[in-house]
Amino acid sequence: MRPPPARLDWAYFLDVDGTLLEIAASPEAVRVPADLVAILDRLHRETDGALALLSGRRIADLDALFEPLKLPAAGVHGLERRRADEIVESATPVGVLAALRELQPLLAEFVAEHPGLRLEDKGVSLALHYRQAPEFEGAVHNFAERIAVPYADRLRLLPGKMVVELKPHGADKGIAIAEFMAEPPFAGRHPVFIGDDVTDEDGFRAVNALGGLSLRIGDERPSAAHARLPSVDLCRTWLAAAVAAERPPKAGRSFPGA
Ligand SMILES: [Mg+2]
Repeated sequence: MRPPPARLDWAYFLDVDGTLLEIAASPEAVRVPADLVAILDRLHRETDGALALLSGRRIADLDALFEPLKLPAAGVHGLERRRADEIVESATPVGVLAALRELQPLLAEFVAEHPGLRLEDKGVSLALHYRQAPEFEGAVHNFAERIAVPYADRLRLLPGKMVVELKPHGADKGIAIAEFMAEPPFAGRHPVFIGDDVTDEDGFRAVNALGGLSLRIGDERPSAAHARLPSVDLCRTWLAAAVAAERPPKAGRSFPGA
């Protein structure tokens, strides 16, 4: 893997679940390691605020997890965005919200009939989780595809790890990165994005196009990311090294398997 250039002016974009935090049985059950908040706080300050979280979670949820930090963030895969100046942007057309309200009871009924499934209503999207009932994977995908058909002009299906989400068109992590990179303090910096899931591929492509660095957490599989960090623990180690070095460390030699 090519090493990142020795520059001080990087901007950090970080996915949360599966990247900064180990995935848990449910979104509420994640554990935030004590040193992680301190690492993020330092990296945020040392980059003059050029650090943003990019997550499928809502921004309010991210604030609760990383309290007392209120970092720049794109929530619900970019449907909500809190800029570095703390202005929050949310642009979901009324027609899309109406579609989600129509689909919510159908999904709730399906969940009630399939023990172990969980419906997460994020307001601007609906996520159907099957982590606790993986035997329903096929049924969940079939059902979600079927009920989404009449709404294909407004909503798309976003598969993730043990989850399928119905969300509006026009927002993804790549778009969110491009929006941040057009604003201070991100503009003019070199972006690094770390993620773990298929929903992060848009982000990898966006930073690659901007000449930045893309890192994927986890095992080998096809990805647009430049390099790989094998685990969430090593991601935290890498970020701590970035704080110490004031630039992104090399992900190749120092991390076996990367
Ligand atoms: Mg993730």
